[in-house]
Amino acid sequence: MAGITIEKIEKTFGATTVLRDVSLDIADGEFLTLLGPSGCGKSTLLRILAGLEVQTGGSVAIGDRVVDGVRPKLRDVAMVFQSYALYPHMTVQENMSVPLRMRRLSNWQRLPLIGRFLPGSKAVAAEIENEVMRTAKALGIGHLLGRKPGQLSGGQRQRVAVGRAMVRQAAVFLMDEPLSNLDAKLRVQMRAEIKELHKRLGVTFVYVTHDQSEAMTMSDRVAVMLDGELLQVAPPQEIYADPDDRRVAEFIGSPK
Ligand code: ADP
Ligand code: MG
Repeated sequence: MAGITIEKIEKTFGATTVLRDVSLDIADGEFLTLLGPSGCGKSTLLRILAGLEVQTGGSVAIGDRVVDGVRPKLRDVAMVFQSYALYPHMTVQENMSVPLRMRRLSNWQRLPLIGRFLPGSKAVAAEIENEVMRTAKALGIGHLLGRKPGQLSGGQRQRVAVGRAMVRQAAVFLMDEPLSNLDAKLRVQMRAEIKELHKRLGVTFVYVTHDQSEAMTMSDRVAVMLDGELLQVAPPQEIYADPDDRRVAEFIGSPK
């Protein structure tokens, strides 16, 4: 379990400043949503938390560990991407096994030829298979384990991506517009499923969306972002009822 401390994060790409002075404390177990229009810097901030992008200034701590310079795999985070980022040549079973194989198997055991003959490999492989099966069943995709991503619907792919993140058992879940490729009806249904997942796992969620109704219905707190800055961080009701400034009000569509 871990909260997140974001301190004075800055990010520039060449001459362009994409994030400026972003500070935010996210509580352990909280569902926090970064909400803002396309291009405001949401993905960049999330990628910095994941360790996929390096900030040009400031610091990030996950739990009580400062993770600046720590590689993505060694942070206690799991990420679900907008595009799902599944391996097209692998089955669902194989896609979902990747994080477990990375963690459980030693370097030697990961080599397909040698690994097969090392003591313990079979037991580890069986354990991984069981865990993937358990998770897949919980997400209603147990019957799809033999298929490849190309043979799945958008909603099914989304579940596989969530499943692959779940098996990591990370303390922090990062989701970048995970529903934006789904049709409207499924999008609403998946909101409830993601909330349910948050409740069940009890871990910290940082959720990114440009969709205000998604942010308002799912979050404990919403962080409204514009042009690389956090304008307001508050529970949904408060953002609606008492927007801090005109730009927040305009984006949310409430009067002020
Ligand atoms: P959002 O996720 O809110 O749509 P992004 O974080 O993807 O926003 O992008 C914020 C800004 O940073 C955009 O103007 C985008 O063009 C720019 N940007 C993102 N990644 C890069 C990059 N690798 N190189 C240059 N500019 C980038
Ligand atoms: Mg984005």
